[in-house]
Amino acid sequence: MKRVAVLGGGPSGAFAAETLASAGIPTVLCDEKLAWEKPCGGGLTYKAYHQYPFLLENPTPKRLVREAAIGAGRAGTARLSLDEPLLIYSRYDLNALLLERAARAGAAIEKTRVTRIERNSGGWAITTRTGRIDADYCVVATGARNPLRGFGAELTPRDTMAALGYLVPGDQDRIDIQFLPGLEGYIWVFPRCGHLSVGICGKGVPAQALRSRLERYMAEAGFEIEGAQFYSHLLPSLETPAWKRTQVAGEGWMATGDAAGLVDPITGEGLYYAVRSADLAARMLIGEGAAGAAAAYRRALRRDFTGDLELASRLSKRVYLGRFLFGSVPERMVQFTRRSPRFARVMQDLFAGTQTYAGLKKRLLGNLRGSLLEVALSFGFSRLVPGGSRT
Ligand SMILES: Cc1cc2nc3c(=O)[nH]c(=O)nc-3n(C[C@H](O)[C@H](O)[C@H](O)COP(=O)(O)OP(=O)(O)OC[C@H]3O[C@@H](n4cnc5c(N)ncnc54)[C@H](O)[C@@H]3O)c2cc1C
Repeated sequence: MKRVAVLGGGPSGAFAAETLASAGIPTVLCDEKLAWEKPCGGGLTYKAYHQYPFLLENPTPKRLVREAAIGAGRAGTARLSLDEPLLIYSRYDLNALLLERAARAGAAIEKTRVTRIERNSGGWAITTRTGRIDADYCVVATGARNPLRGFGAELTPRDTMAALGYLVPGDQDRIDIQFLPGLEGYIWVFPRCGHLSVGICGKGVPAQALRSRLERYMAEAGFEIEGAQFYSHLLPSLETPAWKRTQVAGEGWMATGDAAGLVDPITGEGLYYAVRSADLAARMLIGEGAAGAAAAYRRALRRDFTGDLELASRLSKRVYLGRFLFGSVPERMVQFTRRSPRFARVMQDLFAGTQTYAGLKKRLLGNLRGSLLEVALSFGFSRLVPGGSRT
């Protein structure tokens, strides 16, 4: 392979470039901004840093958070200790870390916007704001607002959620997750180094309505909005049909990360899938060569995680908007987390990213009788010992 062009230098593009360049493949990466504070919570699950230990083992500033508070309506709030803590970066720092690694591996890094890509007999002609690049193969990693039509996920409004928030001064040792009635999404408060990222994501709700709901929450929780930096972006959240129709690869190209729609439709986790898909794409290209890479990548994604994310797209409405035992599912989740150690362990694994959706139903059903018993006992116990059932 003479040259691979990686279009986009977020976590996905940067990691693809690092992996390709490390294997000795001449690689050029183009990003219009390079390291920047992309609107994002910046939270990485245990699954991500366990598989890619360099995400944890580096001197870049970051937070490890060992507690979560989950709230929903009348159920109040449940505290959950995270045995596998959540790792939180500022996106500027995370992007810079990954781009530096790509450069150190030998990738050429160019700060420029890609405006067009065209197939020709020799490969690809890539037009940028500053000139033209020729390459044999393209990795498209231009994120959720991918401007390159026909390459990657075609996101209809139904296949995205709005996600927005504020960076506010402050500090706390836990993350907060707040469910709101009738919202397929949630509010988060993530502590970062030196500030908090307070945001909301929601499906099928206009961004302005989400912003109002977030501001009401922030006012009630005592967060200062005046002077806080506002951010907003699109979050891919593919509906089930989109998982079937999405083109993640074609002749001479592969799409990775948000550009391919690879985000968990329930949690909005995208960073792990951005890195993981980049890893798979690069390894398929290294192992199979240009001719076989696209088909091998599609198969590898399916084997690895897209089947589970497609299942998540079918479960999402039931998780946020469903009812269980005469209450909303989020309220029951909070109550069960507070009162059943078995259920709390399931929640811990969901926060760690180690519980697949395929295994979730079976585990919940298998645990149901035990969890209900624990809840019933805890109700009796907590009448005698107030607060005695905290996890
Ligand atoms: C508000 C919000 C909160 C989130 N919180 C979390 C979280 O806490 N945890 C989590 O796991 N996920 C979270 N996500 C999802 C996560 O941000 C994405 O999944 C992740 O950034 C995807 O990485 P990527 O490299 O595919 O795309 P991006 O990070 O979007 O990178 C794309 C890159 O391409 C560049 N680019 C785009 N177009 C061009 C062009 N034409 N020419 C050159 N360069 C171009 C951009 O400058 C950018 O650097 C959140 C998303 C949002 C919107």
